Amino acid sequence: MAPQGSRAELEFGGPLGAAALLLLLPATMFHLLLVARSGPARLLGPPPYLPELEELWSPWALLLCLTWLGLQAALYLLPARKVAEGQELKDKSRLSYPINGNPIYDFFLGRELNPRICSFDFKYFCELRPGLIGWVLINLALLMQEAELRGSPSLAMWLVNGFQLLYVGDALWHEEAVLTTMDIIHDGFGFMLAFGDLAWVPFTYSLQAQFLLYHPEPLGLPLASVICLINAVGYYIFRGANSQKNAFRKNPSDPRVADLETISTATGRRLLVSGWWGMVRHPNYLGDLIMALAWSLPCGVSHLLPYFYLLYFTALLVHREARDEQQCLRKYGLAWHAYCRRVPYRIVPYIY
Ligand code: NDP
Repeated sequence: MAPQGSRAELEFGGPLGAAALLLLLPATMFHLLLVARSGPARLLGPPPYLPELEELWSPWALLLCLTWLGLQAALYLLPARKVAEGQELKDKSRLSYPINGNPIYDFFLGRELNPRICSFDFKYFCELRPGLIGWVLINLALLMQEAELRGSPSLAMWLVNGFQLLYVGDALWHEEAVLTTMDIIHDGFGFMLAFGDLAWVPFTYSLQAQFLLYHPEPLGLPLASVICLINAVGYYIFRGANSQKNAFRKNPSDPRVADLETISTATGRRLLVSGWWGMVRHPNYLGDLIMALAWSLPCGVSHLLPYFYLLYFTALLVHREARDEQQCLRKYGLAWHAYCRRVPYRIVPYIY
């Protein structure tokens, strides 16, 4: 079969991988939520019990979800806003005749890059608003439930809530930066992003707070201070790297980045080879992973479950880094090879 543009190289294991992920992601999410509530909280092994069908369905829960989405959509449409321009699309138009030989793959990854009705951009809306803010709300609800149950929230619960609130607040504060992420530029709006943004993020990213509600963890001030320090280091690297690249991409003569060393590419865009992006090829992932560790540590080391996010996120970022590498190689060719020689490590200096 002739290659079909960017669809020629299939990602995520092609249709088979996409079909497996379609089943695996929701099943994993339910498994994690059931396990977090059970006494032994065993990450590996069968779920502690299987809920009855009636337990999974409630018209009130559906109404609540729809109200939450409706509220977020109304806020998204508020006229008081700044309008930012996205990245240029490569539209060398030709008439095309869709051949739906890969419906599962397309359903998973999304055929449409930027589905919109008028100015309502579905992917952009889902990326930051209902799921990310929903994650913070679920955390807060768990904190309040712990206060009801035990008189006051535990220090561990405060830390998990504080760290994750900082992360979400940061994403909303730097909202415009989402326009240069792979999700917006490269990935279609299919099951992966819709399920990921609306279900996976709020329900599995709040797993540490869920775990703490059912498995209280005493935490002393000295250890709490060390964990705060780890989160601060992670945030410093994450924010420093992302801000440096965003400032450079917006305006390479910005005084904050003008002194950094760069290499030219055939596209006219330059690549940073000093500063954060001279340390490893994805310093922002490194910072993100250090923060992920700090979110798990308040839950102690007796269970693997609170470390699920760290494990899953490591796999996600290693895979994402490899995908980004392929795209950069396609975009920048020889210049990318030169960058890789100059900055040999991908995420962790001297290790990976
Ligand atoms: P990145 O912000 O890492 O962007 C990658 C792009 O940056 C490349 O495609 C290239 O694009 C540009 N780039 C790469 N190297 C250089 C360089 N040396 N100099 C200048 N530009 C360079 O993309 P992501 O979307 O993967 O990540 C964004 C953030 O979101 C990260 O902090 C990540 O950790 C976080 N994230 C969090 C997730 C979560 O679930 N919590 C999930 C996924 C990501 P170009 O040259 O075209 O500009």
